[in-house]
Amino acid sequence: MTSYSPLLKVSFDSYQVAKQGRVTRDVEVRNVMAMLPGQSARRIYVSGHYDTVARPGGQGTANASGPAFRDPDAPLAPVADPNAPLDNPAPGVNDDGSGTALTMELARVFSQSGLTFDATLVFMCHVGEEQGLFGARLHAEKAAVEKIRIDAVLNNDIVGNDKGGNGIVDGATIRVYSEGPEDSPSREVARFIQRWASRYVPSHRVRLMARPDRFGRGGDHSAYNQFGFPAVGFRESRENFSHQHDPRDTFEGISPDYLAQDARGNAASAAALALAPPAPGVTGDRGQPTIGRQPSGYDANLRWTASPGAVAYRVFWREAWGPDWQHDLLVGNVTELVLLHMQIDDYVFGVAAVDADGHESLVSPYVAPPRAVGPVKTVPK
Ligand SMILES: [Zn+2]
Repeated sequence: MTSYSPLLKVSFDSYQVAKQGRVTRDVEVRNVMAMLPGQSARRIYVSGHYDTVARPGGQGTANASGPAFRDPDAPLAPVADPNAPLDNPAPGVNDDGSGTALTMELARVFSQSGLTFDATLVFMCHVGEEQGLFGARLHAEKAAVEKIRIDAVLNNDIVGNDKGGNGIVDGATIRVYSEGPEDSPSREVARFIQRWASRYVPSHRVRLMARPDRFGRGGDHSAYNQFGFPAVGFRESRENFSHQHDPRDTFEGISPDYLAQDARGNAASAAALALAPPAPGVTGDRGQPTIGRQPSGYDANLRWTASPGAVAYRVFWREAWGPDWQHDLLVGNVTELVLLHMQIDDYVFGVAAVDADGHESLVSPYVAPPRAVGPVKTVPK
């Protein structure tokens, strides 16, 4: 990646990990991080993991033989000889050479694009995913401690194959997993990806999944969620489990055309996000949403804070029973909107910032904060 452009700042993001779980000795682990500085320090990540693993029987045997859920904290079988050479062939071309290749290609294209992005783009090749998301967890923890603003993580893990192990082929869609609740920051990233990837790459449909990941499976995006960052996981639509975590995870199991389509969807989403201004604020000093029923008491009164670089705002809404925005209205350079006779109890509202070139930010939704409930006072007998 250092050869791509002098604008790209490539470094090792290193940690000393102690012996634990699948890690049989103390070891240094290194994420490979390529940063393309933007006009602001807030960050957008595109990522994959470059480590891989092969276990006896692979994921196909594990999926076919046992329950979908296993206790992740169950003790692992002891390693007979922790110093034995690890010569089990683990090519890992799809898991996760595919996500790593996608990340590197976007680092190349973005750093050579000549475009100036508002956000700083980070192209991250994580380490130690298969050992327990170590690289992503350590990096996310450090980012949280250092109070780094991360607006979105687009994690790609197993995105290069379009032929399911059951014979079903789907080269025209990609799945995007995001944790809830329904208006969580990760869900807004997922909605943004569907909205913008579908415009620039209409031949590759985004299938949003309202769950953190597949049953009993996980990935690096969850490590970022754990530390409070918005992050989603891209997954090919039809997996071949018998190739995963197995010596058969080779180039024969990859469709380069399909992987290229996934890369285009990621590129469209990441570029749209990084070119746009930051999302407007929709909460007051005490964290309460700046939404009300004024002036009549039956209207929707929306207020937001101005976003630097915005020349207009787009207001979104949907029925309170619905996964995606249904309506939107472009308004001018204002920070308040009244929608008459729109009862705020019946709709979810949100607002995005729009710059002079039409780039739109993530949508900031108006979400009621959880209500603190104390115990009911009862009269002593
Ligand atoms: Zn993986």
